[in-house]
Amino acid sequence: AQLDTLDLVVLVTLLVGSVAYFTKGSYWAVPKDPYASSASTLNGAAKSGKTRDIVEKMDETSKNCVIFYGSQTGTAEDYASRLAKEGSQRFGLKTMVADIEDYDYENLDKFPDDKVAFFVLATYGEGEPTDNAVEFYQFFTGEDVAFEGGASADDKPLSSLKYVTFGLGNNTYEHYNAMVRQVDTALTKLGAQRIGTAGEGDDGAGTMEEDFLAWKEPMWAALSDAMNLQEREAVYEAVFSVDEDDEKSPEEESVYLGEPTASHREGRAKGPFTAHNPYIAPIVESSELFTVKDRNCLHMEISIAGSNLSYQTGDHIAIWPTNAGTEVDRFLQVFGIEEKRHSVINVKGIDVTAKVPIPTPTTYDAAVRYYMEVCAPVSRQFVSTLAAFAPDEESKTEIVRLGNDKDYFHEKITNQCFTIAQALQSITSKPFAAVPFSLLIEGLNKLQPRYYSISSSSLVQKDKISITAVVESVRLPGASHIVKGVTTNYLLALKQKQNGDPSPDPHGLTYSINGPRNKYDGIHVPVHVRHSNFKLPSDPSKPIIMVGPGTGVAPFRGFIQERAALAAKGEKVGTTLLFFGCRKSNEDFIYKDEFKTFQDQMGDSLKIITAFSREGSEKVYVQHRLKENAELVSELLKQKANFYVCGDAANMAREVNLVLGHIIAQQRGLPAEKGEEMVKHMRSSGSYQEDVW
Ligand code: FAD
Repeated sequence: AQLDTLDLVVLVTLLVGSVAYFTKGSYWAVPKDPYASSASTLNGAAKSGKTRDIVEKMDETSKNCVIFYGSQTGTAEDYASRLAKEGSQRFGLKTMVADIEDYDYENLDKFPDDKVAFFVLATYGEGEPTDNAVEFYQFFTGEDVAFEGGASADDKPLSSLKYVTFGLGNNTYEHYNAMVRQVDTALTKLGAQRIGTAGEGDDGAGTMEEDFLAWKEPMWAALSDAMNLQEREAVYEAVFSVDEDDEKSPEEESVYLGEPTASHREGRAKGPFTAHNPYIAPIVESSELFTVKDRNCLHMEISIAGSNLSYQTGDHIAIWPTNAGTEVDRFLQVFGIEEKRHSVINVKGIDVTAKVPIPTPTTYDAAVRYYMEVCAPVSRQFVSTLAAFAPDEESKTEIVRLGNDKDYFHEKITNQCFTIAQALQSITSKPFAAVPFSLLIEGLNKLQPRYYSISSSSLVQKDKISITAVVESVRLPGASHIVKGVTTNYLLALKQKQNGDPSPDPHGLTYSINGPRNKYDGIHVPVHVRHSNFKLPSDPSKPIIMVGPGTGVAPFRGFIQERAALAAKGEKVGTTLLFFGCRKSNEDFIYKDEFKTFQDQMGDSLKIITAFSREGSEKVYVQHRLKENAELVSELLKQKANFYVCGDAANMAREVNLVLGHIIAQQRGLPAEKGEEMVKHMRSSGSYQEDVW
């Protein structure tokens, strides 16, 4: 059947809007590209060119729209790229994306009034700017803003600057979207004219993507008015060319079959091992910590001996996962590439500014198994880009509806916790064979390493890193199937293989456990180490208070292991107080026996206070125990104890923060606000530390 005119208008509008979906998924952070060495970047202009003068740069390259990003994990950068693509394809703007630290701001008073600047700014930590936006933030929020033109702030020096802002924040933190709010206020005060509303996305509520989508349409309308832009029709233009090379065998050494870098592919991987070059580490031991069958918690010992990697107690280790075979098969089948999964493909950027996010040449199979995040939650905008390539009119109509109707999308896709392949399978059993592979590379994120708080002490075992990971296998409310975490189920499979389990694949997920070209054979996993500020006091006689329910106890096992070793050597060790919580003492009280051994070494200096949520008639959590022990906690704080919280960021860490404020106020006879203030002060002075996720 032909589409009628209205359908066409809807489809075109949708397509045009969604074509803007330039790079990567939307829910997830995008780390710096480990493969970027061979490709230029969108913001390469500033890096390769000499100038830090944005006005000059835009003149030179004939741009009339710059999209600055302040990004820590890559999401703001991703949104900036999407806005650039959309502005260019939908409205004919000449856009460029710019890392905010690559330019100076003193001459923004000379920014021409026929151009526009976007500021896409994430707020990081306690209301701080991201690392790349520190100078920008200080410039605009400092006492004396001085522009080249010499005008004072009262002269409204930025009156010719048109700007657009979107902030990325998390409402579970106190200073929600502080960065964008402060920058917006400062710019307005200096006379700049904001176009549209100052958008805010909330990661805490899980609505970042929807907030972004809802903000940008009225913003584009306002910008079209302000700059007299004409919206135009556009068709999908691939960002990458994906050419199948039938001549080449996947066995050829030049083809990436899942190796993270060229040197790994060539079999000569060497350090330094970093976030761009993981170490293929042997797992020397693995076991399970829960006594129940239906939930799994892994303890693994990963050797870094001979790698030149090092860690300190409290650091993080990143695990580079492999997608489950069943999900790889599903994805290849849904997009009609199952038959040619081992064909060699060359992926190139069509525009010089497009960077290829996966190693190339590779195969479809390797790309999906090792390089693309194919199991993550699905974005509405991405789904709508697929409408033009649907296998029949019926599925096209359904996809258009899903793209247009937020509530319908939530009911049918988000609430079901579908992956992209599962979502399309729920629409039709026919393959979406017409979808260009480029569109999948553009729209899905690169497979991300996952971080784990190291659960060992570097003093005790400097060449062996322990991790404590609970296997994600959850039926989320409303979902029709069990959601399996990518990395933790892969680790479970590795543990099963290592321990000779007769069916090494958990829940039939069928991992390629030996890795590309069998390079991970003998139970290896790619890792890198990230240093953190979550640290024990350098003086072991100082008391510490730790709150770590569930796997939040991971770094504290390391802390206690370290203090027990020091105590065994005869050193004076201060009070080491742990609040631990889990469901039941005989089910998921992890490291229970080990803690007994530590207790023998540390005597009275180790105190463990437990909260079991499913044992009594009422649910008891760590924050309740904290309250019950207010006097002890307060006394230790008076002795300058450090206070640590690890685990669930959304609920537990927040509660603990509140309770501690109450304890301080109540025990010292102060007003409640004073207690809160003291916790804030402890945070800024480093005596209250969080390792939360
Ligand atoms: P993922 O595949 O990343 O999935 C994670 C969750 O996302 C799922 O459980 C589900 O709720 C949701 N999800 C996934 N796919 C979908 C979908 N299609 N639709 C809807 N929802 C979906 N974890 C530990 O166990 N121990 C630690 O010590 C630890 N330390 C950490 C330290 C830091 C600094 C950080 C940032 C995180 C830490 N984590 C730790 C968490 C860990 O990094 C992983 O996030 C966790 O193990 C899940 O990873 P995964 O790949 O198995 O799951």
